[in-house]
Amino acid sequence: MSDHPYRRARFLTSAARLAQCPPDQGFEVAFAGRSNAGKSSAINALCEQKGLTRVSKTPGRTRLINFFELDPERRLVDLPGYGYAKVSNQVRQAWQENLAEYLEKRRCLNGLVLLMDVRHPLKPTDQAMLEWAAGMGLAVHVLLTKADKLKRGPAGNVLRQVRQALDDLPGEHSVQLFSALRRQGLDEARAVLDRWLQL
Ligand code: GDP
Repeated sequence: MSDHPYRRARFLTSAARLAQCPPDQGFEVAFAGRSNAGKSSAINALCEQKGLTRVSKTPGRTRLINFFELDPERRLVDLPGYGYAKVSNQVRQAWQENLAEYLEKRRCLNGLVLLMDVRHPLKPTDQAMLEWAAGMGLAVHVLLTKADKLKRGPAGNVLRQVRQALDDLPGEHSVQLFSALRRQGLDEARAVLDRWLQL
């Protein structure tokens, strides 16, 4: 199997607030999505490491920003899943503020990977995220996850539907089908990451 920089990814640190993040230098790509969208599975598949994001799932860390380092200049950033119902409004608001602070102020952030279950695309929180990123001029690449759950025809329809929705927004956007389970769309996604991370 060929070597690629994502296989070198290692957990670096977790941050509850922007002030706890690693120094704002080099290049970062962040991953966001509703809880259960398949974010952890996608990061593991892209990095070809089954247990890489286990740390993001440990109690107490699910609401933190988790950093994975490819090299001293390049990081993948696992943002807390949004739309999780089983917490109080107060808790939800606090962690959305952390998310907002990171996305708005992080200068080394070069792009956002937004994950949506191909069977449930463009939920209101996803729409809000897309519009917000567009407003900040942040490039977005959408992974329509668990593509193995739909047949080719219906999956293609969702792809077109989401592409159309993205076309209505300003800025740089792209979208693809993805399946961590079938290892579908890995090269396509890595090509986007390569560009954003200047690899
Ligand atoms: P996260 O909460 O966004 O990090 O989502 P996870 O990666 O933990 O995945 C949530 C659930 O979806 C788990 O039960 C996974 O096994 C499942 N899942 C993730 N990716 C895929 C995929 O490509 N195909 C299928 N069929 N299931 C997946």
